[in-house]
Formats: sequence, C-alpha cells, structure tokens
Amino acid sequence: MDLNQVKQLLHQPRLIISGPCSAETREQIMGVGRALHATGRVHIFRAGIWKPRTRPGSFEGLGEKALPWLTELRQETGLPVTIEIARSQQVETALKYDIDFLWIGARTSVNPFSVQELADSLEGVQKPVFIKNPLNADIDLWTGAVERIRKSGIENIALIHRGFSRFGALKYRNEPLWSLVVEMRRRFPELPILCDPSHIAGNRNLLLEVSQKSLDLGYHGLMIETHPVPDEAWSDAQQQITPEQLVKLLDALSWRKEFTDKEEFNTALSELRSRIDAVDAEILELLAQRMRLADEIGENKKRNNITILQAKRWEEINERALAKCDTLNLSKRFIEDYFKAIHAESILHQNAVMNPKEDLEKNKRMI
Ligand code: PEP
Ligand code: MN
Repeated sequence: MDLNQVKQLLHQPRLIISGPCSAETREQIMGVGRALHATGRVHIFRAGIWKPRTRPGSFEGLGEKALPWLTELRQETGLPVTIEIARSQQVETALKYDIDFLWIGARTSVNPFSVQELADSLEGVQKPVFIKNPLNADIDLWTGAVERIRKSGIENIALIHRGFSRFGALKYRNEPLWSLVVEMRRRFPELPILCDPSHIAGNRNLLLEVSQKSLDLGYHGLMIETHPVPDEAWSDAQQQITPEQLVKLLDALSWRKEFTDKEEFNTALSELRSRIDAVDAEILELLAQRMRLADEIGENKKRNNITILQAKRWEEINERALAKCDTLNLSKRFIEDYFKAIHAESILHQNAVMNPKEDLEKNKRMI
C-alpha cells in the first residue's frame, strides 16, 4: 500500500477492522478472511500472531509460521492486514512480510521500555501504527506511547480504546472509563480513534451496547474479533463472533455524524450552546465567590489558630449535597467528585492564606 492509501484508510469514516483474536490454522484464516471480505463491510483484516497472554500456558500464538497465510489472504482478497507487535524482532518479521498496519497492544503500551524498543525499530519505516490504551487507567502512559512512536518518525497513528483492566468482578471484562478517553481525544484531536468492543466487553452479548456507546461519542471505527467457530477459538472464545454476526451487529448500529448542514438543527444547537456558555460563566463566577469566602474563613482561622481541615463540617456539606442529587437529577458519583475537587481547592486557598509564600521563605531561611 502506498502512503496515500494508508492515510486514506486510517481516516476512513466507519473504519472496520476484523478478524480472529489469534491465527490458528491456514483454513481458519482463509475461511474467516474470505467471509469477511465477502461482506464488503471490513476494511482491514486482523489476526494475532504473537499473543501476550496474562498467564503462561495459554495459547501464545503461532509466530512467523502464520504470516504467509495473511499475505495469501491479502493477495487473494486485496484486504490489508494488521498484526500486533510487542518486540523489535517481531517488527522485523512483520516488515519482512510487509504487513500493512501494526498495532501495539495493551500489555505493551503500558511499558515505556517496550514502546521505546518498538519506536527504535520502527525508525525510518513509514508503517501506520494503532496504539491501544495501556492496561491501567493512566492516559499519560498512553500519551507517552503516542509521543514515542511519533518521535520515531511515524506519522500515521490511530488510537484504539480497549478498556482498562481492574481487579474484581465487572459487567465488562475491562472497564471502558469513557471519560478518560475523552481527555485522550482532547490531547490528540487529530488522531482517529477506534473502539475495540471485543476486549472491553469480553462477552459477545455486550458487543452491541459497547459499540453503540462508542459511536455515540463520535469514535471513527471499530475493531471487532471474528472467528469461523467462535466457541472453538484458541483464545478469547467468549467474545468472538462469526462474520454473519458481525454484519448483523454493524446493521444494528446507528452511526452518528459530528456535523450537519441542517439549518434548523444548527440554529437550535447554537442557541442551546450559548445558554450553556452563560451558565458556565456563572458557575465560574460562583466558584470564585466561594473561594473568596474560603479565603476569608482562612484569615479567621489563622487569627484564632484553628485547623484548616474540619472533617465534621466537610461531611455535613457532602451529605447535604448528596441528599439533593435525586431531585436535581445529578449522579451521586458526579457530586462526590465535584465536592472533592471543591474541597481540595478550598484547602489550597486556605493554606495559601495561612502560609503565605513570604512566611514559608522566612521559615526556610531560619532552618
Ligand atoms: C488482541 O487484540 O487480541 C489483544 C491481545 O488485545 P489487547 O492488547 O487489547 O488485550
Ligand atoms: Mn483477543
């Protein structure tokens, strides 16, 4: 593929990547690949060649042996192919077979050493790279992975959101934490973002709701695992679906647009938005007012030698706010987070009042 085609594909609206979790046999790859190609809905074929399994003893992938099957499938169908790479030697092997797209998995993007190793081995090679979010909910690590790959000169990058791992039973195999990804997209508005509902859900029955949610948030595409006989898959059996089920899933989704030319809609939207802007301005003004009051309390406490933190008072404020959540249609979690942030800011303010910079400087000199 030339670079223009790569760029176009990466920015393809409603980009669909599909294929099995792992390459198992030539028949499996050719069978599922041909079926996916025949649907006319899939843009890139995926298959795991080296599988970074959490525990040893699980199927760890066939390695290089499976790569000729991918090139054969590409040759026959014209479908570009993508595999996961985690080590420099795997990059070399992928390049030998001219694999079209590479992806960095969650167990690799979590480790700056590994990402740097990949970045070094990708230097001077213009291969497009998908970067999955790291296992843990730390978007600085994800950001760092993007920066490292970019520094190696790779221009064509897209993000894949596959959820965050967590201890304990969950509805989903990995927690989506959608709001973290919103922040990641704010940091990299130019990068396409795909959702991997297979690894978020961990269960094929939940693929539709996770996929729809990502489309509601304006994601550009999906990576979904498919297998000829999902229940017999050598890895991630519960979350894989057949190519026919993939078509049904895609048909059931509503893809939303980010913009429209419809004037009526645009006028109503900008009217509502200017009201929101006015409310935001008011909220900021009120917050400043609240902090000025906190400063005043700080002055008083300082004069009377009283502690900044008074747990009981804080509990009362919290409880009063939480009691109103239902009537105001605000979630408890939001109000808790909001008041935690207010509290932290008030403490900072009072701290600044009690220990002005000059005092701190003076103390330091005395020590
Ligand atoms: C995969 O895509 O099969 C995979 C191993 O993904 P992740 O890195 O998201 O766990
Ligand atoms: Mn998988």
